[in-house]
Amino acid sequence: MALFLARHALLAAARSSAGSRRLLRHRAPAAARPSSGAAEAEGPGRDTAMLRHLLFKLRATGPVTVAEYMREALTNPGQGYYTRCGGIGESGDFVTSPEISQVFGELIGIWYVSEWMASGRPPAFQLVELGPGRGTLTDDILRVFKQLASLLSKCDISVHLVEVSPKLSKIQALTLTGRKAQLNSKDKSAYMQGLSNTGIPIFWYRDIQDVPAGYSFYLAHEFFDALPIHKFQRTEKGWREVLVDIDPEVPDQLRFVLSPSSTPATENFIQPGERRDHMEVCPEAGIIIQRLASRIEEDGGAALIADYGHDGTKTDTFRGFRNHKPHHVLRAPGTADLTADVDFSYLQKMTEGRTATLGPIKQREFLKNMGIDLRLQVLLQNSYDKATHEQLLHSYDMLMNPKKMGDCFNFFALLPHCRLELPAKKPQPNSQAPLPPVAGFSELSLK
Ligand code: SAH
Repeated sequence: MALFLARHALLAAARSSAGSRRLLRHRAPAAARPSSGAAEAEGPGRDTAMLRHLLFKLRATGPVTVAEYMREALTNPGQGYYTRCGGIGESGDFVTSPEISQVFGELIGIWYVSEWMASGRPPAFQLVELGPGRGTLTDDILRVFKQLASLLSKCDISVHLVEVSPKLSKIQALTLTGRKAQLNSKDKSAYMQGLSNTGIPIFWYRDIQDVPAGYSFYLAHEFFDALPIHKFQRTEKGWREVLVDIDPEVPDQLRFVLSPSSTPATENFIQPGERRDHMEVCPEAGIIIQRLASRIEEDGGAALIADYGHDGTKTDTFRGFRNHKPHHVLRAPGTADLTADVDFSYLQKMTEGRTATLGPIKQREFLKNMGIDLRLQVLLQNSYDKATHEQLLHSYDMLMNPKKMGDCFNFFALLPHCRLELPAKKPQPNSQAPLPPVAGFSELSLK
């Protein structure tokens, strides 16, 4: 019942600031998406500092894997796309669900509160977000925690952000604390720290391994799709890895080539029964999911992962975005976002049974189960101007429409096994009440 009251109180809270968020193109795969090699470069700037760096490297060492290319293009400490700018939002290159509507983050905030309650209300938890972008999602979640202060007042909450981009971490600090970043000289693992607008301590790290151990709720929204992938092509001679090399025909241009023989990655990542002719693997995603699963197994908590992806069936999903338009992945590296669909079957396999997993389920089902329709009604009732009304309906459509973000984005969760244990058939006199179902993956329980 307490959960129902909490949800009801929150869904009914009369805020309607969604009007300030504008809608643009998201990064989910479009129906007629050009493949990674098909589109031409957009606009000027083909000759970038990153391109010169890569040409120098390729001349010295020969072709590099797509994973190495993607890592350099996105997170090179000097010239990487995320390091330099990471253009999320209206003035950038792509837009994400939390940037579209406050409702998205609010419902995720409720998810964490419902899991905290279902786990027996532990006295403390860490909210750990991987790749927080502009900090909007955590900001919306913290507002929910504040609105549910009557429930959470005795819980010691801290926020831990894992972010490689100095530029984005400054934006996150401004969003979440209202001030500039405060560099952390005392504690070496956290490079920055601050206090949220709602009084919660926030710490920034470069790596999940630096986040202190403890009961934690993890969040990764459009994070795994930004991690470097290896690409493979089946040939008559067997599997070959796709590499990036200099195009001998066109000066200062890059092209894809196939490795002349198998590489360590072809040996390690392709399963004997693989049926596709082209495939992508993201080993870094595997390592991070293993870390999350071990931490949840040892210290408790849960992880919620939301991204576009597939179940190990898709082939070429590598693509670029610049200024809300598709961008050739090998042109002007460092100036465009690069991304690939998340293979959820691989993530599940890499948990190695350390935790239970739920999903992936479609975004529209998850948000519906979390009560997005009721929240929309409340916001509509409390908005009196036409523009806000239209904005609310437009953002709902963007998040929920199967042809927009509703079907291609998925939610996937890691939970301790004990969270999903079925109650004994005949409850013993002293046994505890059965565990409530996990919100989002089924309708939020009203009992
Ligand atoms: N979650 C946000 C931003 C998604 S963009 C949103 O949905 O709006 C990807 C984010 O991951 C950016 O913040 C980027 O800087 C960060 N990132 C990318 N690679 C990373 C890595 N290897 N380690 C930590 N953060 C990374």
